[in-house]
Amino acid sequence: MIQYQITLLGTGTSIGIPVPGCRCRVCRSKDRRNRRSRSSALIESSGKRILIDTSPEFRLQALAAGIDSLDAVFWTHGHADHLHGLDDLRALTWKKPLPGYASKETADEIVTRFDYLWKNTQRGGAKAKVDLKSLAPDESIDIGPLKVIPIPVIHGNQSVYGWRCGPVAYITDASEIPEESYALLEDLKILVVGALRFKAHSTHFTVERALKEIKKIRPERAYLTHISHEVSHRQLVRATPSAVYPGRDGLRLRTPG
Ligand SMILES: [Zn+2]
Ligand SMILES: [Zn+2]
Ligand SMILES: [Zn+2]
Repeated sequence: MIQYQITLLGTGTSIGIPVPGCRCRVCRSKDRRNRRSRSSALIESSGKRILIDTSPEFRLQALAAGIDSLDAVFWTHGHADHLHGLDDLRALTWKKPLPGYASKETADEIVTRFDYLWKNTQRGGAKAKVDLKSLAPDESIDIGPLKVIPIPVIHGNQSVYGWRCGPVAYITDASEIPEESYALLEDLKILVVGALRFKAHSTHFTVERALKEIKKIRPERAYLTHISHEVSHRQLVRATPSAVYPGRDGLRLRTPG
């Protein structure tokens, strides 16, 4: 069986934990698991390495995880916490452009936000080189032997993507999974899913809702991500049933090989 590895590079919500200026018990916690950079993940298999989202902490995440090359980058959506580290792809794209994929809406947003990357400017100032392509919800793309498929999900009033690669799926920001998308989530070994906090939120799953979705999708194992400072890691350990775990920054997971 082909082995897949997913590394949770970041597991925090949009503002990260600790929140600057916040004195709450989670932000002041000495438990390292309560320090969460903005959410992103790395999937590796068959000698290929793909990044999901370029968080504002991408550089630090890349150093921590020892990322020295990438084969492609996939964006879930254009919110700042999932996109704004894009410039730091510079160091990994000196030699050749990195293929990048997103929905049409997200790709348009990336080009608007990072317009300088696609403009002819002076020589010498190296820029991140991304060969950006949009993928329709019913398309998939092969990165070498790896097939990557978008999983359309609803995030507040936006339609965004989760991504599936082999038996691993990553759905970060979501408040609803459309019925058609469940068919794309069958037979998963690992599901990573966003679970913001216990209190309701208009654009994110609560912990309770994420657990409900996991029950419906029935992956072998599931991990929670995009976590807010309103919940501690220990609280999440207590709130999760067997085979469901809170994510933490740097956590490396492997499918049975
Ligand atoms: Zn987010
Ligand atoms: Zn706090
Ligand atoms: Zn978002």
